[in-house]
Amino acid sequence: MRILITGGAGFLGSHLCDRLLGEGHEVICLDNFFTGRKANIAHLRGHPSFEWVRHDVIDPFKFEVDQIYNLACPASPPHYQFNPIKTTKTSVMGAINCLGLAKRVKARVFQASTSEVYGDPHVHPQPETYWGNVNPIGRRSCYDEGKRCAETLFFDYHRENRVDIRVVRIFNTYGPRMNPDDGRVVSSFVVQALRGEDLTVYGDGTQTRSFCYVDDLIEGCVRLMNQTETVGPVNIGNPGEFTMLELAELTLKLVGGKSRIVHRPLPADDPRQRRPDISVARRVLGWEPKVALEEGLERTIAYFRTQV
Ligand code: NAD
Ligand code: UDP
Repeated sequence: MRILITGGAGFLGSHLCDRLLGEGHEVICLDNFFTGRKANIAHLRGHPSFEWVRHDVIDPFKFEVDQIYNLACPASPPHYQFNPIKTTKTSVMGAINCLGLAKRVKARVFQASTSEVYGDPHVHPQPETYWGNVNPIGRRSCYDEGKRCAETLFFDYHRENRVDIRVVRIFNTYGPRMNPDDGRVVSSFVVQALRGEDLTVYGDGTQTRSFCYVDDLIEGCVRLMNQTETVGPVNIGNPGEFTMLELAELTLKLVGGKSRIVHRPLPADDPRQRRPDISVARRVLGWEPKVALEEGLERTIAYFRTQV
């Protein structure tokens, strides 16, 4: 197949490029390099089945493709809040442009949605049937509501125009090729520990997240894309749930060194807890994560040792 990946130079997108090229597909990587890096895809330069295009998803594009994975969108809070209006446009216009292209060339189109659609959840763990608890006017809303609107567009194009969609809700994912400066918690703690700096835990550190290693995530996404039982949404994430203090302590144990834990103010609307209910992924995709947090962190630390 010929497959378009928007956001293909980012953390997840570059792993998806590798995976799909490895399966023998042709891959077109479209990216504006806002948070993505050429270094993430440099090893693919010269690959006969790989092309990259500098383009912004808010502007229309045309490619003759069989599948589209729409990953373009900054994912870390500091980056998506840097230009919040642009973030909403990226999610909404990007979805419209991908769906319009999919309709025209009859491609299957995949949306990288997020656990942020559940906001600060009152239901725990979160099943796909939960509608969420999202502030529509806060600092995180540009991302959360942009992604919620993208899901709406996907399902309306599916119902109205029979576009063949798949929607995944990704829970916090980490691994090699995260941007060392993107401010997400795993990359921040690992880089701080490697530099001998203090680890910045926001608030009292009792808020929880569930961390999925990138290889597991990519496996789940590819399985969702290539089955016909459900269009989604399907949660993909690791149900292991950790407080940010536990993550900081584990990072310190694995990296060693002299860093300490310091506390910084909790950002507004920071969700208290997050853990996926993955029964749909288990049943329909036969998928569950294989890499435990400690093992995944070790691999991530090994990568960042080469970067900082
Ligand atoms: P990332 O920031 O590393 O990758 C995003 C990519 O999109 C980058 O390469 C960036 O340059 C590109 N991009 C941003 N705006 C663009 C635009 N307007 N036009 C073209 N390209 C643009 O983040 P990631 O972690 O790889 O996330 C990939 C996707 O998965 C995002 O849509 C994100 O919302 C979603 N997601 C990720 C996680 C996670 O934990 N990693 C969790 C939930 C959802
Ligand atoms: N966090 C933290 N220190 C950091 C960065 C983040 O304690 O240096 C916290 C943050 O407040 C949140 C959690 O870690 O509770 C996950 O943050 P991240 O930005 O990685 O993801 P998200 O909040 O979007 O799930």
